[in-house]
Amino acid sequence: MDFTGQGVLVTGASRGIGRAVALRFAQHGARVAVHCQSNREAAEETRALLPGTGHVVLQADLADAEAVRQMVDDAVSGLGRLDVLVNNAGIYEEHCLADVSYEEWQAAWRRTLDVNLIGAANVTFCATRHMISLGGGRVVNVSSRGAARGEPDYPAYGASKAGLNSMGQSLAQALAPHNVYVTTVAPGFIETDMTAELLQGESGRRIREQSPLNRAGLPDEIAYVVAFLASAGAEYSTGTIVDVNGASYLRS
Ligand code: NAP
Repeated sequence: MDFTGQGVLVTGASRGIGRAVALRFAQHGARVAVHCQSNREAAEETRALLPGTGHVVLQADLADAEAVRQMVDDAVSGLGRLDVLVNNAGIYEEHCLADVSYEEWQAAWRRTLDVNLIGAANVTFCATRHMISLGGGRVVNVSSRGAARGEPDYPAYGASKAGLNSMGQSLAQALAPHNVYVTTVAPGFIETDMTAELLQGESGRRIREQSPLNRAGLPDEIAYVVAFLASAGAEYSTGTIVDVNGASYLRS
């Protein structure tokens, strides 16, 4: 995989999977825009880890459409060009139907869809407009196993990721004439801040047992597949959704 000379925007790259994705692209020669919501210090740490030069740090709440437009414009001007977008940023907030109030329920759905789905849709709009004018590009969405398996305690999250899967399929068809290729990765449980609590103790043991590998995944195991899908040669995979879940949930 060679991304020399390419500009790559990774949303939610201050930590976890996004940081590993940023690192992978930089290791393969790209200049990377490291996006975060509020944790600028962590995003600067990510940038400091990246080999090469020309990387930038950007901040925006994906629920804010105007901030998204500005962030993508800044990525393009900071990197000089934008070849790859990785829609990675996301939130995972518990809201069990039987336990929360109606107000809490509505707030969880609104916030989760605003960030995980509409936010990603808006970043994609702004970024692919640049790619179209450049003659092509790649979008890789980071979805979740939960889109297909169900998320009983996080239903808005499952719905947001199912929506992201569908968006990726539709845009793969819509953008193919513009040489923009759109793919999706659906991780199982990965060791990051998002899952740190769930992966502890008895709940962690049960989660690890879901995979015959008897472990959770590592951020770079997702980053590897993201980079592959964005690489030259993977064009005909456009529209795909790739499961990376240690055989913990198999679909046919
Ligand atoms: P994480 O460690 O919790 O990091 C989340 C990232 O998203 C951070 O960079 C955070 O920025 C950013 N973010 C959060 N809310 C945002 C907002 N409103 N606007 C902009 N950015 C925002 O998450 P992760 O585990 O690496 O997950 C990355 C992606 O993989 C997510 O889409 C998640 O749904 C998906 N995924 C994760 C797992 C897993 O087991 N970890 C499994 C399946 C799918 P700040 O640092 O500034 O807060």
